[in-house]
Amino acid sequence: MRVTGVVQGVGFRPFVYNLAVRLGLSGWVCNDPEGVLIEAQGPRRAVDAFLSGLREEAPPAALLESITVEALPLGEDGAFRIRESATGAPPTARVSVDLATCPDCLREVFDPADRRAGYPFTNCTNCGPRFTIITGIPYDRPNTTMAGFRMCPECRREYEDPSDRRFHAQPNACPLCGPRVYLFSGEGRPLSCGDPVREAARALVGGKIVAVKGLGGFHLACDATSEAAVARLRARKCREAKPLAVMVATLEDARRYGRPTPQEERLLACTAAPIVLVRRGEAPLAPSVAPGFERVGLFLAYTPLHHLLLAAAGRPLVMTSGNRTEEPICYEETDALERLRGIADLVLSHDRPIRTRCDDSVARVVLGAPQMLRRSRGYVPSALRLPLEAAEPILATGAHLKNTFALVRGRDVFLSHHIGDLENPRAVAAFEDAVEHLGRLLEINPRIVAADMHPDAWPVRYAQSTGLPIERVQHHHAHVASCMAEHGLAEPVLGVAYDGLGYGEDGTLWGGELLLCRPGGFERLGHLRAVPAPGGERAFREPWRMALAHLDVSLGERAFDLDLPLWRVCDRERAGAVLEATRAGVNAPLTTAVGRLFDAMSALLGLRAVSTYEGEAACALEELAKTAAGAAPLPFEVDVGERIVIDASTCIATVAEALARGADAAALAAGFHEGLALATARAVKAACERCGVGAVCLTGGVFQNEILTLRCCEHLEAAGLRPLLNRAVPPNDGGVSLGQAYVAAARSA
Ligand code: ZN
Ligand code: ZN
Ligand code: FE
Repeated sequence: MRVTGVVQGVGFRPFVYNLAVRLGLSGWVCNDPEGVLIEAQGPRRAVDAFLSGLREEAPPAALLESITVEALPLGEDGAFRIRESATGAPPTARVSVDLATCPDCLREVFDPADRRAGYPFTNCTNCGPRFTIITGIPYDRPNTTMAGFRMCPECRREYEDPSDRRFHAQPNACPLCGPRVYLFSGEGRPLSCGDPVREAARALVGGKIVAVKGLGGFHLACDATSEAAVARLRARKCREAKPLAVMVATLEDARRYGRPTPQEERLLACTAAPIVLVRRGEAPLAPSVAPGFERVGLFLAYTPLHHLLLAAAGRPLVMTSGNRTEEPICYEETDALERLRGIADLVLSHDRPIRTRCDDSVARVVLGAPQMLRRSRGYVPSALRLPLEAAEPILATGAHLKNTFALVRGRDVFLSHHIGDLENPRAVAAFEDAVEHLGRLLEINPRIVAADMHPDAWPVRYAQSTGLPIERVQHHHAHVASCMAEHGLAEPVLGVAYDGLGYGEDGTLWGGELLLCRPGGFERLGHLRAVPAPGGERAFREPWRMALAHLDVSLGERAFDLDLPLWRVCDRERAGAVLEATRAGVNAPLTTAVGRLFDAMSALLGLRAVSTYEGEAACALEELAKTAAGAAPLPFEVDVGERIVIDASTCIATVAEALARGADAAALAAGFHEGLALATARAVKAACERCGVGAVCLTGGVFQNEILTLRCCEHLEAAGLRPLLNRAVPPNDGGVSLGQAYVAAARSA
């Protein structure tokens, strides 16, 4: 029997062994380059039972793709055994993702009679750290950060017993021989106490902020039900408004603090344990956890340490990445003690080193299926498949913001963990280290490097520094290609890339694009009507500037005579000066970015004049729109000339005049979403008819907007078209590396 899929490093061989022994079969099981190979011999009934057992009882982290069976002549009878792995197994199969604590281990941790009672590092072949602790290949204990811990005789026995759940569990440990937890004061002074986890829990209950070293880095934790505690965390971290994730102990708790659908529950409880955006539940969380948001990000405890901490605290905890704003998450103790000083009152640390920092993943369910918003811990480094084979190994350097990079070998693409915004030296160093480390683990030596078209963005400079031939991939082409790759599409599609911004082929800032895409190239069929971005980069953080530009395009001077909420946040005199410069073309690059149109609307309605984090203004607009469902669509013009142009100026003029008359902002926010979705559908339909394609990839950061996504899909389906969304990778810039990889692979083939 040949079993393919995710079957290595997930406890599959011990499972097969136990199943075979239970059914009295003889034969063997081993890992090999293609997955797992099994020879089983016995009475027909037992072999049949074995086959169905393989499918039905496989360990939770295993993902079976196929089982093919071949009849062989009878061999010798004998004990079933686990054979040594065939050499030459590709490293792809050797590096597993980090797995949330399994039910068996959890039972042991909370069983006072078990030798691992209360032990925060309990794990087995079905669960525990993998990617975050591996230092080299093959995946064996000396090549993990557990190398410095010597197994005690009891752990060793488990490790060597094929019938044991801990057979070849590389991070296997117990209180006698494994890592331990300890506490530091906020100033970094070691504290001695009986039970560090209990002590930390006590501090949390008392409203303190505790830095907790977890699986892929440090979290900052506080009581999620205490407004004072959450407000203090926000103030100390200088994080004004961006929603915070909340960790709960059990699915039952998730049902109290949230209202997950059955699909969202499955996502919460999967072995990756991502943060899942769910509707709020009956039990209240502190208001400033996710101020103004209908949904809250919940996730389940995923290591024994988290389980013990939550059990001792007896309440949900805010668990946000332990970093200073804009820097990567801390993962080394000395670094955390220094950088989190002044933020954390207490530091709960441990002595199992983290090799690779890995942020929590974020996902949601949209249109009946999960969609990643950040693909990192629990998913990396599992492979995605390209529709075609790359002729040579490729490194795709990804986007400048929300960076991930990708390595390609053949049809396999390995996306990196979330590296983040490459805006400071720490992030850049993290990128360089990760490229080198992942390349070594996967044994991929890139011969081609894919990079954005931007003349100067950091990933582009990195690409140039490698000295390898560079494939330039336009940002929105990459967005669309990421969606094509996910759906296995090699034939042309229509791509709708609604985005923050990206460097266009004509040197302007794109981000509202209708592109006819093939894997290797594209044609720009249409776009949002371009407007200037007053002040260039500043306009991306200050939505009032975009509102000004859009008002000027739609109404000209007349805008200044209207009584608008905008004039309460930026005075007309300053606005006049900025406009003058803009009209003169001073520092006012043209942009078609739909993300900036959302900013403009948000500022125009008086919601956010300035964004403290990317997407803040757009999120505020969407949340307001949710309160006025069913509003009439606002008018957008669609010019279906040679170049299709979606024009928002009528919409903006209508909004301004309605506001001046005192109209309800919520209805306008909803009407804006409806109108844009309708206009998009009209433009897409015209484009599809023109070039005879039926598949439409909706991608780019703006498609994190739920209302716009749902409405666009509805209208496109009604028009007989096939809308497709990103699922395994985010529609935002975190998915760009997959698209770059696909484009470069197609050009190499
Ligand atoms: Zn386990
Ligand atoms: Zn031990
Ligand atoms: Fe983008």
